[in-house]
Amino acid sequence: MTAGAPDTTPAQGDIAAAAPRRVSVLGATGSIGDSTLDLLARNPDRFEVVALTAQSNAAKLAQLAVRHKARMAVIGDEACYAELKTCLSGSGIEAAAGRSALVEAASRPADCVMASIVGAAGLEPTFAAVAQGRRLALANKECLVSAGDVFMDAVRRHGTELLPVDSEHSAGFQALGANAARDIEKIILTASGGPFRTWSYEQIAAATPEQALKHPNWSMGAKITIDSASLMNKGLELIEAYHLFPVSAEQLDCVVHPQSIVHCLVTYRDGSVLAQLSCPDMRTPIALSLAWPARMEAPTERLDLVKIATLTFEAPDEARFPALKVAKESLRRGGAAPAIMNAANEIAVEAFLGKRLAFLDIARLVRETLDAADARGLMRPAATLADVLAVDAEARALARSLLRDPCLAQ
Ligand code: NAD
Ligand code: MG
Repeated sequence: MTAGAPDTTPAQGDIAAAAPRRVSVLGATGSIGDSTLDLLARNPDRFEVVALTAQSNAAKLAQLAVRHKARMAVIGDEACYAELKTCLSGSGIEAAAGRSALVEAASRPADCVMASIVGAAGLEPTFAAVAQGRRLALANKECLVSAGDVFMDAVRRHGTELLPVDSEHSAGFQALGANAARDIEKIILTASGGPFRTWSYEQIAAATPEQALKHPNWSMGAKITIDSASLMNKGLELIEAYHLFPVSAEQLDCVVHPQSIVHCLVTYRDGSVLAQLSCPDMRTPIALSLAWPARMEAPTERLDLVKIATLTFEAPDEARFPALKVAKESLRRGGAAPAIMNAANEIAVEAFLGKRLAFLDIARLVRETLDAADARGLMRPAATLADVLAVDAEARALARSLLRDPCLAQ
């Protein structure tokens, strides 16, 4: 199915009445993984855990696998296999390690796979989950940013039920409901504005990782928190929305909304605007992706509009947040531009967190990588996942070589 067409989903009614749904969580030790497992643990009769994966925290992965009675635990980094095996000894839980084992875990029969690995590293396992042809709860936005057309084509080919987990897209999915594509005028994603919303250009230029990691509203992994501070996250989300929803790039927009209560607004041609509101807690969109078309209890703070009193909105400032501008240009350019942008941004964020790059140089490195890739003729659209992975690798190499340029490196 595609988001926005909820009537094509198979199971209807209360999920409590059905047999337990088998769920795998890719990226189980992360922020989305934690929230997902919290919801699963509160509903032991409705869900059973098949496979859990992580990259390098073997002790936490083993602990989660035991607590949630998983059948399989897979660690990406092979150097952590011995530790995982030791932690799981006597538990009866299958342990494995390495890239191919991650893909195998994603292919294990499950009714729903939560795709919550961070970055383009999630592409291969998430594509493997798509090939099951069942439900994919998609948190990993990089699949849509780097491999959009190829990914959506795989979703259609396998008849996979795709539920967006990103809060703005979960909101858009709900606000779209069963409305016809021709009736949609605009889809507007909201952005909190991040910790630097009110900072001057000069202050932002001197921002440290510690300051950028302090998100005002959401608790998330480090990479997406930095992307939220630069507004690159909103750029990635516009590209995500372009592939999920039946609209053109011109029909997509974003607005800064510091309270993070309204997550997405859909404007229809009769002037109606439908939006989804909730307190900023990822367990709300995750619960929807697990229970849809039913709803399940999520232990989140309830929205009290009287207490909040004021909801405000402002235009994003692309001069202070140049990453948003780069992302919008990449969306319009199409082809391999979003994949190259994403790869360069991953390298840039890593360098910023390692204090090897200034905050505003994240967008500069991304732009220079895009220009260099264009000059080398790398912009043609990918036809397969292998094409996407190849352009991703080339863009990373280009970004790393530009990072060594004394103009960018500090
Ligand atoms: P995180 O950093 O907290 O967790 C990432 C998970 O991926 C961990 O389990 C980690 O072990 C695993 N991982 C990291 N590198 C890997 C690799 N090379 N191979 C295999 N596994 C690897 O990240 P997160 O905040 O949970 O975000 C996960 C995804 O969800 C991202 O794509 C992010 O953009 C998206 N997302 C997150 C939020 C949020 O609130 N955290 C909201 C919307 C979308
Ligand atoms: Mg989001």
